[in-house]
Amino acid sequence: MRRISIFGATGSIGQNTIDLIAREPDAYDIVALSGGRNVVQLAHDARKLGAQIAVCADETCLAELRELLAGTGIETAAGETALIEAAQRPADWVMSAIVGAAGLAPGLEALKTGATLALANKESMVCAGPLVMQTARAHGAAVLPVDSEHSAVFQALVGEDLAAVERVIITASGGAFRDWPLDRLASATPEQAATHPNWDMGQRITIDSASMFNKALEVIETKEFFDIDPSLIEVVVHPESMIHALVGFNDGALMAHVGPPDMRHAIGYALHHPARRALPVERLDLVKLGALTFRAACETRWPALRLAREVMAEGGLSGAVFNAAKERALDAFIAKRIGFTGMAHVVEQTLNRVSAQNGLIHAGMSLDNVRAVDHLARETADMIMLQN
Ligand code: NDP
Repeated sequence: MRRISIFGATGSIGQNTIDLIAREPDAYDIVALSGGRNVVQLAHDARKLGAQIAVCADETCLAELRELLAGTGIETAAGETALIEAAQRPADWVMSAIVGAAGLAPGLEALKTGATLALANKESMVCAGPLVMQTARAHGAAVLPVDSEHSAVFQALVGEDLAAVERVIITASGGAFRDWPLDRLASATPEQAATHPNWDMGQRITIDSASMFNKALEVIETKEFFDIDPSLIEVVVHPESMIHALVGFNDGALMAHVGPPDMRHAIGYALHHPARRALPVERLDLVKLGALTFRAACETRWPALRLAREVMAEGGLSGAVFNAAKERALDAFIAKRIGFTGMAHVVEQTLNRVSAQNGLIHAGMSLDNVRAVDHLARETADMIMLQN
C-alpha cells in the first residue's frame, strides 16, 4: 500500500485529491492529513480515510478537533511545529496543497524523507524554487507539478530535450474582469473577484486569477520548475481554459495539453506518475466545443505580469518578497481595506523598498533567509498600506 499524506486536505486541491484517493481505499495508507481551521472537514476525512494523524494549523481549533476524533485512535495535533513533525513521518507521496508561503516548510520536510512531493503550493517555488529543487536532489526525492499549467508543460516535455525548447506558453483565463473596462477595475469588490469564469478553486487563488497575480506566480514557478530562461516564457489569455500550456520546440512544433478545467487530471497524473491511469474526468468533445480563442495578456490591465518579469530579473529572494507582499495586499483587499488595483501598487512599492535595502535580497537561499525576507516584506507592505 502506498503511504500518502495530504497537507491542505480541507482546501479545494486537498478535497480533489481525497476524491481520487477515496475511490481506491485499499491502495493507500493515509499517514497525515492537515487543515487550517476547518476541523469538521478534517475530522470527517481523517475518519473516512483512517489517517494516522490529523493536524490543524490553527492551535485554537485543536480542542474541537480532539473532540471530533475522540475514540477513533487517530492522533491529533496543531500548529506549525506539528505540521513539520507530520511532514517528517515517512510517506511515499505527499500532496503540498496548503495555500501561501506557509506551505514551504512542510514541503521541504517531506522532501527530506525522500518522498515524492506533488506540488500544488506554487508559493514554494516562487519563494524558494532553488531550495526546493536542491533539497529534492540531496534526498533523492521527486517534485511533481500539480498546477495545471505546469503539469501540462511537464507532460509536453516527456522524452524531450530541454535544449530544443524555444518557448513555453502558459494560458490564463483572464479571471473575472478580463472584459471589464479598465476604469471600472478600481471599484471591483472581493465578491466580484472571487467568481471565476471556468475553474472552481479556493477564494484566494480565484481573486489572484482576476488580478493575474496567480499567473505572475506561475510564470516564476515555470522558470524555477523547468529551469527555463524567463525570456522564453509567454502568457496568453485563453478564455475557454481548455489548453493549459504549450511547449514550442526548435522545429516549429507546438505541443499543447488540452482538457476540461478539472484539477483531478493534474492531481491524478502526479499521483500515478510515471504511469497513466484512468481518471474520472470529463472527456473533451471537440465538435461541441467548436472554437478556442486567444488574446494578448495586457500588462496595463494586469501589472502583476510586469512585476513577475522584474522579480525574475532581480532573482535571489525577490520572489519571497513578491509573494509575501501579494499575500498581505490580498488580505487587505479581501478585508476591503484597499481596492482591487491597489494590490499591484502595494506589491510594487514593497519590492522597491525591500530591494533598496542592500544585500538582503541576495543574502543566499535558505529557509531562514526566506522567512526573514518574507517577514520584512509583510511589515513593509503593511506600512505602505497604512501610509497610503
Ligand atoms: P484553499 O484555500 O481551498 O485551501 C487551502 C488549504 O490550506 C486549506 O486546507 C486550508 O485550511 C489550509 N491553510 C490555510 N492557511 C493555512 C496556514 N497558515 N497553515 C496551514 N494550512 C493552511 O486553496 P486551494 O486548494 O485553492 O489552493 C492550495 C494551493 O494550491 C495554493 O498554493 C494554490 O495556489 C494552489 N493551486 C490551486 C489550484 C486550485 O484549483 N484550487 C490550482 C493550482 C494550484 P482550512 O481551509 O481548513 O482553513
